[in-house]
Amino acid sequence: MIIFDSEGWKYYHAPFMSGPAAAHRIEDPFGFARAAEQCSGQLMLAALPRLQDRLSGNAGMVSYVVRGRQDERGRPQLELKIAAGLHLRCDRCLKPMEYPLTLNSRVLLSRPGDAPQDGDDPDEPEWIEAGQDLDLMDLIEDEILLGLPLAVRHEQGNCSAGDSGAGRSGAKDTPFAKLATLLEPRSTDKR
Ligand SMILES: [Zn+2]
Repeated sequence: MIIFDSEGWKYYHAPFMSGPAAAHRIEDPFGFARAAEQCSGQLMLAALPRLQDRLSGNAGMVSYVVRGRQDERGRPQLELKIAAGLHLRCDRCLKPMEYPLTLNSRVLLSRPGDAPQDGDDPDEPEWIEAGQDLDLMDLIEDEILLGLPLAVRHEQGNCSAGDSGAGRSGAKDTPFAKLATLLEPRSTDKR
C-alpha cells in the first residue's frame, strides 16, 4: 500500500506501468531483463519503513531508474540507479546532516528455489530471488541500507561536537550545519 504525494508524483515516469497500483513493481522481472526494459519512478522516503531509524527526518523522495539486461553469461540482471537527498544524523554531534546518496548497483535474478550458482568472482553482483513480479520498494530500500556509510559525520569544521575549527571560514557549509550552529553555537563544555 503506497500513498502517493501529489507533489512528488509529477516526476513519476514509467511508460509501461499503468497506474499507482502497478507502480514500484516489475511484472515478470525475467522478461523485463531479457527485453532490456527500463522503468523509473520516485518513492517517498517516509514509505521505506526499515530506513526510518537511520534518518533524522524523512521528508523527500528517492528517485530510481531500473534497467533490465543480461550479463555476458546470459544471466538476467537489473541495473539500478538510485538518488536521494537523505537527512542522516551525525555520529559525533547527533545533529542532522544532509547526505546526498547516489548509488549504482546490479543484482542478478534467480527464480525461487533455484540456488544461485556461486562464482569465484568477488565482483559478482548480489543475487535476489524474483518471482512473478518484483517489489521495487523492497529492493530499493535494501540497496539504500547497504549503501549508507558506516560512519556518518559532518565534515571537519561543520560539526558542532569537539570541533576545534569552529568559526573557521572556508569550510563547506550546508544549510543543516548552519542551522545547527545557529541553534547551538557551542554544544559542548558549556554549563
Ligand atoms: Zn556533527
